[in-house]
Amino acid sequence: MTPSRARALIGRSSRTSSITLHCQESALNTPVNLSAARSAPRLSNQDLLGLADQCVKCGLCLPHCPTYAKTRHEADSPRGRIALVQGWLTDRLEMTPRLAAHLDGCLLCRACESACPSLVAYGRLLDGARAQRVAATPVRRRFRIGRRLGALSNARVMDTLSRLASVYVGTGLARLVEAARLIRFRSIATHHRLLGALAVTARPVAAHQIDDADLDLFVGCSGASAQGGAIAATRTLCERLGLRVRIASDAVCCGAMQRHNGFPEAADRAREQCAHVHGGRPLVGVSSACIAELREHPALTRAQEVCDYLDRRNWPETLVPAPLRRRVLVHEPCSHRRLLGGNAAVHRLLARIPDLEVAPMPENDRCCGAAGTYLLDQPEMAAALLEDKLHHIRDLKPDIIVTTNPGCALHLLAGVRESGLDIEVRHPVELIVRQLLHLICESSNR
Ligand code: SF4
Ligand code: SF4
Repeated sequence: MTPSRARALIGRSSRTSSITLHCQESALNTPVNLSAARSAPRLSNQDLLGLADQCVKCGLCLPHCPTYAKTRHEADSPRGRIALVQGWLTDRLEMTPRLAAHLDGCLLCRACESACPSLVAYGRLLDGARAQRVAATPVRRRFRIGRRLGALSNARVMDTLSRLASVYVGTGLARLVEAARLIRFRSIATHHRLLGALAVTARPVAAHQIDDADLDLFVGCSGASAQGGAIAATRTLCERLGLRVRIASDAVCCGAMQRHNGFPEAADRAREQCAHVHGGRPLVGVSSACIAELREHPALTRAQEVCDYLDRRNWPETLVPAPLRRRVLVHEPCSHRRLLGGNAAVHRLLARIPDLEVAPMPENDRCCGAAGTYLLDQPEMAAALLEDKLHHIRDLKPDIIVTTNPGCALHLLAGVRESGLDIEVRHPVELIVRQLLHLICESSNR
């Protein structure tokens, strides 16, 4: 790519400048060998250029890219972003705010990677390029970014945020903010939405330290705040299936947030900590994104997403959920679809609930815009992508939406609430356990 071609790529459209944008019991994870388990060193410029050079610029990925679909700007496409990274790493392009905005606009949903016939490792390339960028950032700014990410991936901070969310909503402060129309200010609107959703999803998770557990349940940094109900439901269901669950007292982060935001060393440390806590035990998690990240560690390659895990258990014939005459739309997070091989197990589990009408959310191959910290950092694009989901939701009028990823759950929940829709957003396991408990309550009342 010539320098003029690369410059033309960033400058072609003015529209975008406004968008700153398995196995049963053999699932035991490998015992931790720390020296072997350490992750590969940060990718060098040469490594990254090697990955980028795999791209033959065929453009077959373009129709699959959600950001390109919105802006129709080559620099917001996978091919364009790869070209920008090449231009930057070979010193033909400067890392201007505009170039950075195009790279930051990527959701890392990896739809392009799945579509690429040349098998370009796009996710690895963008993670590596972001790490190079962060390394070149002035120390104070890097420190500030790192501190924010550290807070967002800290269970204690997230728990505190959840308590604040309860106060914010419970005292009526949230309604005051709406009445005063303060949500017209972007930063207030973003935090208002997040707090409103956290007030619904948060639920304390108690440690359950036992030695003879059949599985470790992964909680992670945001498990209690964003998926507290799912964790409680998983424990309940496992115990009904005769499985003993251990919940470690250390709620450690998987590191995904740091990895996708340019802090690979912090991400490696976090994942290493997970291997310390959970290595050598069967590990199951309710968050598809965390499980995808954990599986990259040599000691945790057999970590399982909870629906896959439960689908493979032997269910007693007597364990049948109560019927539910409701319509469910199944949202499939990118991490589940692209990194864990799809969510067929979610559909099989939900099929256990008699009378439940289950359908996949249309365009499940398109990211909803949550994408880790993306919903905070790129609120316009995140809202535009969410609006596409809401269009289908308004059209199909489900009673319940289920998803296996905490970020997607918060984003979708905020969207349905803002739209005034009376729709629940749940983890699939929550729904199953609710129907099981419903049956138990009914029979004990007879
Ligand atoms: S499909 Fe693959 S090779 Fe083709 S432009 Fe996209 S990333 Fe490059
Ligand atoms: S990861 Fe997603 S948003 Fe980023 S370039 Fe690929 S398809 Fe587009």
